Parts: sequence; structure tokens; C-alpha cells
Amino acid sequence: MTRIGVPVPPGFTITTEVCALHGRDPRAAREQLAPALEGALRRLEEEQGRRFGERTDPLLVSVRSGAPVSMPGMMDTVLNVGITPAARSGLAARGGGGESGARFALDCELRLVEMFGDVVRGVPPATFTAPRRRALAAAGVLHARALPVEALEELLAAFRDGYARATGEPFPDDPLVQLHAAIEAVFASWEGGRAVTYRRLHGIPDDLGTAVNVQAMVFGNTGERSATGVCFSRDPATGEPGLYGEYLSDAQGEEVVAGTRTPLPVRRDLAAPTGESFEERFPAAYIELARVGEKLEAHYGDIQDIEFTVEEGRLHILQTRRGQRTGAAALRIACDLVDEGLITPDRAIRQVDPLSLGQLLAPIFDTAGRAAAEPRRLARGLAAGPGGASGRIALDAATAVAWAANGRGPVLLVRDETSPEDIAGMAVAAGILTARGGATSHAAVVARGLGVPCVVGCEALRIDEEERRLSAGGRRLAEGEWLSIDGSSGDVFAGAIETMDSEVLQVIDGALPPAESPAWGRFSRLLSWAGERRRIGVRANADTPLDARRARALGAEGIGLCRTEHMFFGGERLLAFRRMILAGDEAGRRRALAALLPWQRDDFRQILLAMDGLPVTIRLLDPPLHEFLPRGDEEADRFAAEAGIDPRAVRARIEETREANPMLGIRGCRLGLLYPEIIEMQARAVFEAAREARDAGGHPFPEVMVPLVGIPEEALRTRRIIDQVALQVFAGGEPIHYLVGTMIEVPRAALVAGRIAAGLDFFSFGTNDLTQMTFGFSRDDTASLIRHYVDEGILADDPFSTLDRDGVGALIRIAAESGRAANPALELGICGEHGGDPRSVALCRELGLDYVSASPLRVPGARLAAAR
Ligand code: PEP
Ligand code: MG
Repeated sequence: MTRIGVPVPPGFTITTEVCALHGRDPRAAREQLAPALEGALRRLEEEQGRRFGERTDPLLVSVRSGAPVSMPGMMDTVLNVGITPAARSGLAARGGGGESGARFALDCELRLVEMFGDVVRGVPPATFTAPRRRALAAAGVLHARALPVEALEELLAAFRDGYARATGEPFPDDPLVQLHAAIEAVFASWEGGRAVTYRRLHGIPDDLGTAVNVQAMVFGNTGERSATGVCFSRDPATGEPGLYGEYLSDAQGEEVVAGTRTPLPVRRDLAAPTGESFEERFPAAYIELARVGEKLEAHYGDIQDIEFTVEEGRLHILQTRRGQRTGAAALRIACDLVDEGLITPDRAIRQVDPLSLGQLLAPIFDTAGRAAAEPRRLARGLAAGPGGASGRIALDAATAVAWAANGRGPVLLVRDETSPEDIAGMAVAAGILTARGGATSHAAVVARGLGVPCVVGCEALRIDEEERRLSAGGRRLAEGEWLSIDGSSGDVFAGAIETMDSEVLQVIDGALPPAESPAWGRFSRLLSWAGERRRIGVRANADTPLDARRARALGAEGIGLCRTEHMFFGGERLLAFRRMILAGDEAGRRRALAALLPWQRDDFRQILLAMDGLPVTIRLLDPPLHEFLPRGDEEADRFAAEAGIDPRAVRARIEETREANPMLGIRGCRLGLLYPEIIEMQARAVFEAAREARDAGGHPFPEVMVPLVGIPEEALRTRRIIDQVALQVFAGGEPIHYLVGTMIEVPRAALVAGRIAAGLDFFSFGTNDLTQMTFGFSRDDTASLIRHYVDEGILADDPFSTLDRDGVGALIRIAAESGRAANPALELGICGEHGGDPRSVALCRELGLDYVSASPLRVPGARLAAAR
């Protein structure tokens, strides 16, 4: 910033390497740092014409974290370092002398003792908040700034006493001791719980370390001609151009983001009451701030989150970083920056987080439901993170985490003020509501980064932590009751509100004309840039014609997995399917299968037509049959009555099919080799559907996929049955081109892939099962174990979400290489959940796969990842 001519108070940077060394060997770090620090400090003193620790006009510094990837509010900062009682009068002179100067000097010292106590020595906050509360009450004022000098002096004595009692030693009045301790505390905050949690949530490596910036202090707290604020170069919730931020006059840094005072808007048109905005109160500084915002955007090619201070009318920029933004804002900003000529489409693609596209597809409040909820509206706060959310009220992060973990439904985290300590609770919350704090408060920033709907600064809200309830708008709600927030308007409602499809989904489903949706315009523009650049194909996992249509509209280049068993969930179909499973002999099974055939054929035809001209991979029946059986005697008897079968026979057959390890039992191709009539029926349904689709003028392209193969002979025998059916169906007419391939989801299949590939057309890696069987982790039961492993650093990531490079990835590599060696035309894809995960997409590309397949709503993110 200094090099491009932005007004930044001078300072120096201790690099991340020192932090890393400090983590390994604190003594070595201290020894290396001390002489360098001395030299840098001397240069800073010369530049400032002030000396550190001097009486008449002391140099004070801020000690700020500076991680390579910004982690808003997760790291520590100490301000006003270098104050000593001896320097108080010199500092008072800088604050204009007289009574106001004295108040300013005391205010700075109070802040130092409190911040240093908290950040460096972990002194409990009540050590400071309790005496302050007493002093305010005694003087009958709201803020410490309004206290008379004597009261401030008494308060300072109380702070110093409290510090000494809590730490067992007096507050260090040696500026160099303060500086060293503050630097080490900032290093240590890299390992602090909230920073670690944030890194986990955002996939930031643990070994980066933080830099420390030591910067000459400028003061926003010298009086009403000074201020401090935070602003974004564009609106981080919507992406709308123009400065968007907040400030407080006569204040210092942390106050604006900490949510302890509700700050005022930077821009005049966002201010109520009028006359209170930064633009009106500090017009010259505002114009300069706008200019700086443009300059920084042009330099970094991205939206900036800027911290500034005005000291006696003069603007200083303290910090800038990449602005956290919602998915909608990310899209708008990327398109606008391209249009403004600041970035290229390549850069736009790199700038939008693929995962954030999901926010544009997430449900919003139903319009009618929203209108009907109007009488239940309790209050309005600041709209800080768009989207609608309903959930059970949780009044602290631990409760939110516990309820989310044991499935008590969605939770809404409701807090008095926003604190970065709440990060774990924020991550699991459906929405976040706070009584205090502004739109640039830490929680608002973090919520936007997480894509969680958020309302802050809802001042009508009263939270009673002891009674575990809240009140607003004349109503009381207990913790655990339902509450709804609209993060786009700031409204808060009692009870739940129905949700509906997002604007983008409405366009896709034809409910909204594309021209009426700017969001859709940007969405499709970005995706077409991505499409031109993608390095690996993207298909969809889709089981219904609706999903297939949606997936295609979202850019899927075919279907990578159609799970045929999903067509038998519920109703008449389930009944017929159960008849098939429970049939005691082949004849009974064939009768049941004949009833299922028309349904399958009909579904397949519609899906083939929805994906006309594109490949559709249809998988033969896969799951363990018990998933479809009646559970318990009561359900079994009900089924027997409906199906007209003897209940004793039903119970006996259920007993017969019981397996100790169903996931390792009779499923996948094993089922079809035990009961070939199942393969025959499904293959017939596929080919007859393809014939019908062609007769209707379509261009069907079916690929039949055999699941859970581990032995080459399994694949070959299954293929033989499929080919025979094809011959029968197409006899006497024009045959339709089709492929037969297998899933690779048993480790053995990967190891003998060369022999499997020889007789087949494609492999699709079923990385859900492949991960399950490679780790020996049950897909269905190990979520809490894996969470523990990730928290403890035993595993870096959940292997069911992000493909395990070392183990599962190695198997894929073996299978891909030996498969292609045996059959150069072999097509390779992946259809496990990993297909929608950006990091896994990158690995698949590296492993030479032709495509990934993801659930329809994750297709856009996968396409973006494929382009990145
Ligand atoms: C897989 O195992 O990765 C897969 C796609 O199949 P399913 O999830 O249906 O077992
Ligand atoms: Mg599987």
C-alpha cells in the first residue's frame, strides 16, 4: 500500500518465517528477532521524529497480525504499545492538551492495559468490564469517553490493580517488554482455538504462520475530529458498487468490528438519521477514502476490506485485505470487474470460490410464507448476510454445536454481540442473529464467508442468558423455540417460515424468465467462461427426469450415475419392489420384475430424452436389499396384508435375508449374479427406453454400469447378460450404440483393473464405497469418529468429503493406468460424492480422469473447479 502511494502510517513487518520458527523453537526466534527489531524500531523512530518510550512525545505502535490468508477477527492485535505513566503528559499534549488531552491519554492507557491483559496474559475480561461498569454507573454516563479525568484515573488504577492480581505481577511499564510480549502473543494467536477452527473450515494450511506488523499508532480517539472505521470497496452482501462500511468518531480500531458500540454508516445515502454519516461529518476524508478504495481495487483486482483512521481530520489507511463476500456478491463483483476492465475472465474464475455458488441455489423464504409471517415480525436489524433461515434458538455457540450434532434440527445462533469465539457455533448454524454490532462486525464478515444468513445490530432484541430466553417486539421466546431471520431485509420473525426455490433455480425450472433475473445472467456468464476453460468434464448424478433437466440446465455434460434403486422409494413401486425381494423363487421374482419393468422403462426414456445426445450412465441395482425391507414385525405384517402374502412367510424371508455386514454382503453385481433375472429386466428397460427415445426423434446414449465389481469374471459375466438382452431388444431393427462399464469401488478391483478393463468400455470410480473399504470406515456410522480425527489432526480432512490423495488416490492411479494400458479407449470418471468437491476435482484431473460427476446442484461448482 505504501508503494502505491496510499497514506499508511509507517512501520515494519516481521515475516511469517519468524512465526514458524517461534512455533518450533521460541528461544531461537527471540534471539534472531531482537537485533533486527532494534534496527527496525530505530528507523521507524527516525522517520516519525518520535522515540519509543520517550516522555515528551512518545512513539506508540500497534502490533497487528498479518496472516497470508486473511482470517477476519481470528487473530490478535494489541494497540497503544509503548505507553508508560511517565509518558502520559507527553501523550496528553498530542491529544490537544488540557482536559481533553488528559482524557485522551488516559483512554489510550486504559485500552493498552485491557488489551495487553486480555491478549498477552489472558486476564479474564471481567477484571476490566466490572470496574468500568461501576465507574459508568457512578458517573451516570454511557461510555468511558464521557467520564471526568478523576474517574478515568481511578479506573486506570483499578485496571492496573486487577491486572496485577490476575497475573501476580505489575503491569510492565517498559515499552520494549510490552513490544516483545505483544509480538509473541500475536504469534501465539496463530495456534489459538478460533484461528485453528477457522483454518479447518476454510482449508487454510496450518503451517503458514502469521506475520506481525508493527506500525506507528495514529489516533481515532483524540476527540470529535477523529474517527476510525472499516469499509468495503463494494457491498459485500450484494456486490453493488460504492463504499460500504461503518465508522465511529472518537474511537479506536477494534471498537468498530467488535460489536460493542453500533457504528454509523460511511455513506450518506445509507445513513439514518441524516448528518451522521462519515461522508457528511468528514467530507474531505471521505473523498480521499473513496479514491483510495478505487486505487486499492485497481491494484489488487478485487474487492477490498479496508480499515482506516482519521486523526484530526487526516485520513490514514491501517490495513486492507481481500473482502469476504457472499456467493451472490462474488458473482456480481467478478462480472463487474471484468466489465470495468480491471480483471480478465480467467481471473474472475479464480476469484469466485466454487463452493460459494451453492448459495445461489439454496432455498430462500417463500414469498407467501414471508407475507403470512408479517404479524409475527418481532424486530428489524441490519441485513448482513442474505438468505432466509429458520431454526431453533440457541443462545450460545456450544448449545448450537451440541444441537446440530445430535440432530435437533436447524439452529439459529442468537447472541448479544458478535464474537470470533463463536466460530464453531456459527459454522453449524442455519442463521445468525445478534443484538449489537454493525454490518462489518466480525460475525457479519465471518457469516458472509461461510454463506450463512445473518442479521446483526438488532437493537430491539433483549437476550436473557440466565433465563435462557429472548424478547423482542413485545414477545418472549425461550431457547429451543423456532425463530426466522431474513438476512436480505434484516427482519426477524417468531416461528418458522417455509422456503422456496432460489431465483436461479426458478429460472432453471422455467418459473422465471431468464431476462428477469440479473443473478441468472451473471451465473450463466461465469459458467460459460468456466465451460470454455474446463480441463475435465462434468456430469451429474441424477435419478429422476427433473434432476436430469436441472443438471443439464446447470451445464452437466451427461449423467455419470443414475441410481436405479432410487426409483423404488415409496408408494406402489416400493410394494412391487418388496414383492420381488421377498419372492421365494425365480418364478415369483420374474412376476414381480415384470411389474417393475414399465416403470423403469418410462423413467429411463424420460431421462435419456432430458439428456438427449449426451451420455447417461445407468447403474444396475446396487444396495443391500435390507434397505428396502419392512422394518419390525408390525411393518412386515402390514406389507404382508397389502401384498396378500402369508405374514409368516414374509417374516421368515426377512430373517433369511438378514446380513451381519450388509455393506459387504449381497449387493451390487453379486445380487445380479445370484438372480440374473434382475439384470435382464434392468437391461431390457434401458434398451427398450432407448429405442422409444429414438423413435420419438431423440439421440439416446445409454451407458450401463455394473456396481461393486471386485473380480474380473463378475464384470464379464454381467456384461454377457447385458449384451444378450441388447441383441434381443434390437433384433430386426437398427441397434443403438451403448457402452458397458463398471464401477471401481472395491480395492481389489483397482488392483486387478487391467484384467477388468479388457472386456469393458469404461470405469467409474465409486469413491464413496472405495473410501469406505480402503479405510475400513463405515460410511454410515463414523461421522463422529472422523470429526474427532480431524479436530485432533489425526486426519487432515474428512475422506468422505475430500478425496484421500495418498490411499484412495493411489488406488485410482493404479486402476487408471493399468486400465488404460489394457484398453486405451477406456473412459474414466468418478461418481462418488467427491465429484462436487473442488479439491477432489483437481485431483481427478491430475489422475487423468475424463470427467467427474456431481449431484445436480453441485454441478456449477464442479464446472468452476474444473476451469480453475
Ligand atoms: C460410490 O460408492 O461412490 C457410489 C457412487 O455409489 P453409492 O454411493 O450409491 O454406493
Ligand atoms: Mg457405491
